[in-house]
Amino acid sequence: MRKIWWTWDIRMHWAHGLSFTEESYWRNYELAVDSAARYGVEGIVVWGFLRDMHGGLRAAHRVLDYARKHGVEIFPGFGVDDYGGAYYQGESEWSLDRFIAKHPEFQARNADGSLHTHRWPMNDWTVRKLCCPSCEPAMEYYLKSMEWLLREFDLKGFQIEQGDSGLCYCEKCCENYGIGEDKSSFNLNISTRRLLPVVRHALQLKKNLTIIVETYSGMELGKVAEKAPLFQSYPLEVYLSWQAYNGFELPERRFLIDEKSVSPAKHGCIAVRSNSEAALGESDTPEEVGRAVELARNAGLDMAYIYGEYPDFWPKTAKVYEIWSRACNETKGE
Ligand SMILES: [Zn+2]
Repeated sequence: MRKIWWTWDIRMHWAHGLSFTEESYWRNYELAVDSAARYGVEGIVVWGFLRDMHGGLRAAHRVLDYARKHGVEIFPGFGVDDYGGAYYQGESEWSLDRFIAKHPEFQARNADGSLHTHRWPMNDWTVRKLCCPSCEPAMEYYLKSMEWLLREFDLKGFQIEQGDSGLCYCEKCCENYGIGEDKSSFNLNISTRRLLPVVRHALQLKKNLTIIVETYSGMELGKVAEKAPLFQSYPLEVYLSWQAYNGFELPERRFLIDEKSVSPAKHGCIAVRSNSEAALGESDTPEEVGRAVELARNAGLDMAYIYGEYPDFWPKTAKVYEIWSRACNETKGE
């Protein structure tokens, strides 16, 4: 299975400073890349890849060039309607905050009518503005943002999400998407409708891209069958990302994939969200991680990501990476 590490810039613990400065950002990813190469990791997803706070374009290029020289690709996180667009935080025209600042009427609304913002990860004190998913002019902006990002870094891939921080309750969204009393943090119908044009556009611009699409879904057979037409609407090249377990709802740890799970798409990635503040620290056992990968392979998935935010000079994390990497290397039936 293809091996990917998934990271938030400011949750990186490889070097001092959690990437809050350019030097720390650089050191964190330099060390992570060196180690990733040893585990056969072919790409590192970076959310917050571009921030003015840690050196903007200059630092991002330095990180990507270093990674590429060492046989590891950088796959930036690309946010649609949330997570900053192509440029997570800063004065760039490709920062979604700046786009919404210019067009305040496009900002998403909370159920009480207030303007919708999102602050994540937990240690980020800055807020992102969310765009209303009924906003059509934003689609043109996302296509252009994607063109810019692919060209600027000659990217080989990216991860893309539409956001999981709540729905927009403006009149248009209530009408378009039937949002009423729904208090979900995520809606697959809206997400698919917003991501598909951007994904298709990227593939038209560049072949052989590795595109990881977050579904925020588990792989329980019945639930996947219910939404199969949405999952199957993506181009065949896409890697749909599936949650291995409900890591955020501890202490009740539960796998969201089992022996009956089957991928509804040609490619798929199991998201093993381990070893991160988001998973309450080093909470996973190597056995759980190995089992998740085994179930994923059995379900027909051909990629696995694990958080790469904790360094492998921490013994428990090192064991998890080792077991994860070995499990990914096995072939079906072993
Ligand atoms: Zn709306």
